[in-house]
Amino acid sequence: MALKLVTRSQWGARAYRTPNGATPYSRPRRGVKLHYLGTPYTDRTHDRCDDYVRQLQAQHMDGNGWSDIGYSFLVCTHGYVYEGRGLKRRNSANGSTTLNDQDYAVCLLVGSSELTKPTSAQLDGTRDAIEYCRTSGPAGTWLGGHRDGYATACPGDVVYAWVKAGAPRPASATPAPTAPTPTAPKPTQEADVPTVIDESNALDVQLESGKWLPLAFADEGALLAGPVPALAIDVHLYFDVATTADTKIQGVFYLTNTDGTGASNYLVIDHKGGGGHQFHHSHPIPAGKKLWFQVRAISPDGTPVTLLHRVASGLHWS
Ligand SMILES: [Zn+2]
Ligand SMILES: [Zn+2]
Repeated sequence: MALKLVTRSQWGARAYRTPNGATPYSRPRRGVKLHYLGTPYTDRTHDRCDDYVRQLQAQHMDGNGWSDIGYSFLVCTHGYVYEGRGLKRRNSANGSTTLNDQDYAVCLLVGSSELTKPTSAQLDGTRDAIEYCRTSGPAGTWLGGHRDGYATACPGDVVYAWVKAGAPRPASATPAPTAPTPTAPKPTQEADVPTVIDESNALDVQLESGKWLPLAFADEGALLAGPVPALAIDVHLYFDVATTADTKIQGVFYLTNTDGTGASNYLVIDHKGGGGHQFHHSHPIPAGKKLWFQVRAISPDGTPVTLLHRVASGLHWS
């Protein structure tokens, strides 16, 4: 995708506040941090996007007393990249001067309610912005969200899972139809928007030392059924703090046929001791297969281990 940049003069930005506004800062950045608006947001036609960006700039300058809009760039649901402070200047969105120096700040115009899921055009635009920061910033390859290193829900679970999966382009990104005829099939843009997985189970489970235990999830026990061409999910497990530090905790994702036969494992992921452990998975699931997860604990003296809480979170494109 070619970057669809909307420059400050194109969206009618106010000038940086002087004398010390939007501090020039040209050192290389570690990478890019993503943000969302953190307020309710409703989608709008693209001719009203620049009104919104100007309104946000006024809020940051007149309400927060900042020298300019806080973000380096903003990406609307139509995939346009609005130049905020832009390159070579420090943003004021990441939470502290150190964090603002460390990474560029890119905000997706999605909210904490109403419109909460980015469009595929927006994910493409965000990817364009990330690449622009890398090539012209320059910025390194680190990717994350406002919540990395700062206590905030920003950029929301959907955007966060996407950026931690490496900010992949939506699988079937196609250019917007220019002049659809009445007989043209409807564009299947829904399929480009990821589905969120967010399951939590606080039931205590006793793990017999050395014995694998398959965990049940919403989809008839399985985590997901194929075909799933792209996904990024994490299983988080929380073990009793009394679990000794030399207790081995192992988790493994595996596939079976739809009827549960023909199990084949991915690599076993090893952790140790009590507290929280995270198991990440991002391999596509072929048609006719289901993805499962199982866990075991091996304690040195053979005592059972208590699993207190489990969460499956992430997203997939199906
Ligand atoms: Zn933020
Ligand atoms: Zn727009």
